[in-house]
Amino acid sequence: MDSDLELIAVDAERWARELQKHGFSIIMPERWEERERLLALRAVRRMARALGGPEEMRRTLGPIALAKRKTGGGGLYAFWPRPPWMRIVVGEALLRQQPEWLGEVALIHELAHAWDARTANLVSRILGRPGRIVREMVRFVGEEPGPTRYGSGLRLFHRNASTAASEQWAETVAAYLYPEYIAHLSGRPEEREWPAQAGRPEHLRPGLGIRHRVYVEGRFLEGQDGMTPTPNLPEKSSIP
Ligand SMILES: [Zn+2]
Repeated sequence: MDSDLELIAVDAERWARELQKHGFSIIMPERWEERERLLALRAVRRMARALGGPEEMRRTLGPIALAKRKTGGGGLYAFWPRPPWMRIVVGEALLRQQPEWLGEVALIHELAHAWDARTANLVSRILGRPGRIVREMVRFVGEEPGPTRYGSGLRLFHRNASTAASEQWAETVAAYLYPEYIAHLSGRPEEREWPAQAGRPEHLRPGLGIRHRVYVEGRFLEGQDGMTPTPNLPEKSSIP
């Protein structure tokens, strides 16, 4: 399975064309090293599979420019003042982590932000406010904390509630697509201890709670159906 990805990643132009099928335009593909290209391709393929294919991914996330930078972390510019109007940047350090697939998780995290931004109106995008996906998630999950400390959804770890909610969504998508990410975090004491610190000792973390799993799975299935995401949530009371 991975051998075809390796073949594609060898050639920067071919790699950029492959990502283009998924909706990405790559800014200066030659700046990406082969192993970084492979990593990005693996992440995008994994998300595309869950959404039903490259075509569905392109439709769901819309066109996105993807750029690498030497320093700094990752981020989404939900509104970029040039077509295709949305841009993701990833710092080199994010792409060179150990284990290697942590770089894939970092990229998926930003793609999840882009997905939500696609459900926000232009004003919200410019102001960096959450879109419909995040707002509905907050209502749906109720008191259940998110999968990781960073994505707990608790204000305790963020400067404001809407940042907390957006990070909760991004980490929910990452946890859903990368069970190995959760397994990896499970070895860290701070990831097990934050629910107690936050006064939620009944929640075991890291990991996706049932409400988060139902919600994120629903959004992926909508992508597969070829529909724009619409609220179609079970009643709160039907979920434990
Ligand atoms: Zn984030």
